[in-house]
Amino acid sequence: MSQHCLSCGACCAAFRVSFYWAETDAHPLGRVPQALTQAVSPHHVCMQGTANSPVHCIALDGEVGKQVSCRIYAARSSTCREFSAGSEACNRARAMHNLPAIQAEAEV
Ligand code: SF4
Ligand code: SF4
Repeated sequence: MSQHCLSCGACCAAFRVSFYWAETDAHPLGRVPQALTQAVSPHHVCMQGTANSPVHCIALDGEVGKQVSCRIYAARSSTCREFSAGSEACNRARAMHNLPAIQAEAEV
C-alpha cells in the first residue's frame, strides 16, 4: 500500500466498489463480510455506502484526507486490492476530495 493511502481514503469515498458475489463469505472461499455488502445485480454486490451519495464505504474508518483505515483490510475485495495509488482513477478520487495529485510509486 502506498504511504499516501494512510492519509487519504478518497477512493473509498468516491466510487461504487462492486465485485463478484463469490468474493463474499457467502461463498466458502470468499472473505469479504457479506453483511457489509448489498446486491447490485444477480451476480454482483457492492460495499455498503458506495452506492450512496455521498459515497463512503461502510468499512472506512477515520477522516478522508487526514487519517484513514479499512476495517476489513485483509479481507477486502479484488476491486480494492487492484486499485493503484497514483493511477488516473486515484487522482480523480483525490481531486473530488480536494487532495493534490500523486505519482504512481515503483513496485518493490
Ligand atoms: S485515492 Fe489513491 S492515494 Fe487515496 S487511498 Fe485511494 S489509492 Fe490511496
Ligand atoms: S473495503 Fe476497505 S479498501 Fe475497500 S472501499 Fe471499503 S474501506 Fe476502502
